[in-house]
Amino acid sequence: MRYNLDMKRVVLLGFGIDLCGFDEAVEFIQAKRGQVVTINPEMMDFAQKNEYFAQIIKEAELVIPDGIGVQIGLKIMGYNTKRIPGVEFARKLIDACAGEPFAMVGAKPEVVEKAADNLKKEVPNLNLVYLHDGYFSDDKVIMDELVSAKPSLVLVALGSPKQEEFIYKLKKELPEAIMVGVGGSFDVWSGMVKRAPEVYQKLGLEWLYRTVKEPKRFKRIFPALPLFVLKVLKEKWS
Ligand code: UDP
Repeated sequence: MRYNLDMKRVVLLGFGIDLCGFDEAVEFIQAKRGQVVTINPEMMDFAQKNEYFAQIIKEAELVIPDGIGVQIGLKIMGYNTKRIPGVEFARKLIDACAGEPFAMVGAKPEVVEKAADNLKKEVPNLNLVYLHDGYFSDDKVIMDELVSAKPSLVLVALGSPKQEEFIYKLKKELPEAIMVGVGGSFDVWSGMVKRAPEVYQKLGLEWLYRTVKEPKRFKRIFPALPLFVLKVLKEKWS
């Protein structure tokens, strides 16, 4: 029960976020099992407009601050915490759960396959029991296959909110599994998309690098950040 000692859940804009170190987060979810949400301002914005998504976040077993936006929001509310980038967290979980049945769902077929090949080279006892790309029309078919494969770690890369909704439904069928929505992580592991250079990562400016590389993200991400900060300030002062 050590995990209870290290976990502190605080509230930001009505959503619980767990404050903990990297290793505590891994240890916690290994003991508790269930859904991990790596939350960012865009997701919080969407959840404020969508009750079902809000419920998914509220019922998640672990909610970790993925980006600089949530870190700033927490700081405004008086909480100092480190960011836990989802891509690094998921990679640590793979190592921590190596040997246990593991499943990957999401991304383009060639991307998920290349990511799996690279992971097999890095983690010799990787026990990959299921793999599927993220472009399917019937969730039920994939969920039934996953239930038969009985994975204990499931990484889902469908983008948000699709991946969180998929996991939320699957959690009822696989309650003993750890499941994480990992966004673009398979693209990174496949080597087809590069993460920002370390200096950007350290400064919390990975979003800026990705936006410059992929300008269509600008419209999606840029307004969300300042609006999010304004909302948090409003909450603090009200
Ligand atoms: N993706 C998918 N199926 C879909 C939509 C997206 O498998 O229907 C994959 C996409 O190929 C990418 C991942 O979801 O690998 C994450 O997409 P995005 O970069 O939009 O997510 P973010 O990391 O920004 O949350």
